[in-house]
Amino acid sequence: MKSDIIIIGGGASGLMAAYGASKALAQMGKVAQVTVLEKMPRVGRKIMITGKGRCNFTNLKSWNEFSGHIRSKANALKPALYNLTSQGMIDFLSGRGLECVVERGDRAYPASYHASDVVDTLLGAAKHFGARVVTDCEVSAISLVDGEFIVETPSGQWTGKKLIVATGGLSYPSTGSTGDGYKWARSFGDEVTATFPSLTAMVPKGYKNYDPKAPQDMKGHIDRSEPLSDIGNALAGVQLKNVGVTLYVGGNEVQSEFGDIDFTDGGIEGPVGFAVSRNCVKAIVNGGKTALVVDLKPGVPEADILARVKTLWNEIQKDPRSRRLNFKEMLRVLLGKLMPWDLIPGFTRSNPDILQGKKGNERIDFNLLASLLKAWRFEIEGYVGYERCVVTAGGVSTDCITPKTLESRKTPGLYYCGEVLDADCDTGGYNLQVAFSTGLLAGESAAKAL
Ligand SMILES: Cc1cc2nc3c(=O)[nH]c(=O)nc-3n(C[C@H](O)[C@H](O)[C@H](O)COP(=O)(O)OP(=O)(O)OC[C@H]3O[C@@H](n4cnc5c(N)ncnc54)[C@H](O)[C@@H]3O)c2cc1C
Repeated sequence: MKSDIIIIGGGASGLMAAYGASKALAQMGKVAQVTVLEKMPRVGRKIMITGKGRCNFTNLKSWNEFSGHIRSKANALKPALYNLTSQGMIDFLSGRGLECVVERGDRAYPASYHASDVVDTLLGAAKHFGARVVTDCEVSAISLVDGEFIVETPSGQWTGKKLIVATGGLSYPSTGSTGDGYKWARSFGDEVTATFPSLTAMVPKGYKNYDPKAPQDMKGHIDRSEPLSDIGNALAGVQLKNVGVTLYVGGNEVQSEFGDIDFTDGGIEGPVGFAVSRNCVKAIVNGGKTALVVDLKPGVPEADILARVKTLWNEIQKDPRSRRLNFKEMLRVLLGKLMPWDLIPGFTRSNPDILQGKKGNERIDFNLLASLLKAWRFEIEGYVGYERCVVTAGGVSTDCITPKTLESRKTPGLYYCGEVLDADCDTGGYNLQVAFSTGLLAGESAAKAL
């Protein structure tokens, strides 16, 4: 089987590459075949789960701000993101009848909030210009023989003049992304920087019941399916708004964020959890000791909290309604005035020392309570891995590609786009925009070079 341009992977970047290549060929009046080989029964499976199925497909921040959310060498991606800007992506979708909306934080979604509409629009655009899409077609090997790429699949061999690797990263392998592109890149002599999960849950010590001595595929990986401990069970499901979170590595403060965190069946995640997860996971993988310190009362000095706690306690003790309550119940009333109700069981289980003394003679350690409200420390002993992380950090080094074309410097005719590149970003629509922009540029470049 022959195709002038072969694209491996029918995800965000691969579909956009197919559109870019086939449209460019049509505009140049060249007759050539573009084919996407996708191993899953349907294309775009990962897009379908983005933004909780709503698909936050881009972010409208200017390049200066946008580039700050790219966690690798942003300059290497600049030509791609100038070729297809975030506004360009909105125009692309709306020009094909898919209305878009922009929400808080400059995040754009299809107005229908259906990720499937984005997949259908992309697929339709690629097919409109004649691209062919073959599903259930897993590429097992690629090689270059006499200037032609040979692509092995279960249904036979494909040959092509240009090859675009759009196989994605390693996250959510159930969507088809299993990191196949990395081994091919290495076989062509292109460097692949160490990969690790990013935008993932961090697991505090004592949060899960698992065997820490069991062999791990990656240092610190604690599978999402490991069962929760009593503390984990008490905390899972709690969402904290407007808290401060500071990441410490080896005792040094490395990142401080303000916003929301979620305790889940994985560990600590949510927007701010994700924001610090990259540095946290990287440090753990490299053998570092990490801790997260949560400030439940940002902006309020500890001395003021201490005074407030004591005042509240006096009020509770004087309140006639307290006569019916035992000490622990009164403590719960106090905590209820200081934190969300659903946090209290997890907070008290994690910090039993705030209640001191024997039954009938209990007292509260006010200093400890005030300091915990200001700096609740979680030693982080692991993280949820590729099975449920949002994005893969690391990948094909952007030093190995020409930024203006995304062609491998070593192997003319070979292109990379999307998450297979060392190009992970924060949450907020940046990852998909990078996939779309690099996909379009790789496709156009391959077509122009035919
Ligand atoms: C839960 C979740 C939510 C997310 N939400 C957002 C969001 O709201 N906004 C955002 O910007 N980003 C989000 N992302 C990240 C974003 O989805 C990815 O960065 C993006 O899809 C990467 O696109 P890609 O084309 O590089 O890879 P993918 O979309 O992963 O596509 C790769 C394709 O290649 C195929 N493939 C792999 N190997 C082979 C092979 N050997 N042969 C044939 N085909 C192969 C796969 O089946 C797959 O279809 C989210 C990710 C996850 C996991």
